[in-house]
Amino acid sequence: MTIPANLQAVQQAIASAAQAAGREPGSILLLAVSKTFGADAVIAAADAGQRAFGENYLQEAVDKIEAVLQLRPDLQLEWHFIGPLQSNKTRPVAEHFDWVHAVDREKIAQRLSDQRPAHLPPLNICLQVNVSGEASKSGVTPAELPALAHAVNSMPHLKLRGLMAIPEPAQTEAEQRVPFAQLRLLQQQLAAEGIPTDTLSMGMSADMGAAIAEGANIVRIGTAIFGKRTYAS
Ligand SMILES: *Cc1c(COP(=O)(O)O)cnc(C)c1O
Repeated sequence: MTIPANLQAVQQAIASAAQAAGREPGSILLLAVSKTFGADAVIAAADAGQRAFGENYLQEAVDKIEAVLQLRPDLQLEWHFIGPLQSNKTRPVAEHFDWVHAVDREKIAQRLSDQRPAHLPPLNICLQVNVSGEASKSGVTPAELPALAHAVNSMPHLKLRGLMAIPEPAQTEAEQRVPFAQLRLLQQQLAAEGIPTDTLSMGMSADMGAAIAEGANIVRIGTAIFGKRTYAS
């Protein structure tokens, strides 16, 4: 299938999952994860109406953002950095992106705030939470989340938008929903502590339906739009 047809199929899947959950499809942003695909794939998706793109690998992402800008200065795209971020690599992220999804340390957030260029709006931030004891080392623990959220909330050039998670793969929709429900609960607890946020970034190609059922506002979809990734070895 082509990228425009894939996009349309994913949008339809989002709409039917939203409908099944009694939610407004327009409350869910489709983030097209274009990592490993070139500027041409981004432009094909953009010409089919896609505006928000997610990238994981910094150098690849910056090259792609600049290539798209060169080729098609008319496109008004929104770029989300969704990969793990090292503290010595924050500056290009602060300069080139609109959102960062995987912030899990105060030091990284502080650098992003300090390095955000003054002419740009605040950088939108999601805090990555390690829900249901993921094997992965990334993400704050639920216990550490409130302190990090308070710190980020007070940084001048950041805007705390919400929470993000990448749960371990699970087979059934019921199993997939457990960590997503936990993330939603953590968001409610933060709101009760005076930090309301509007975004749950959760759900990928394989578990999008479960994420939408639990309240996802951003689903991060790569494979279902661009096809299988092949990594250069
Ligand atoms: C690669 C990636 C995605 C997209 O995954 P697909 O399974 O291709 O939809 C989403 N989120 C993150 C953080 C990713 O690294």
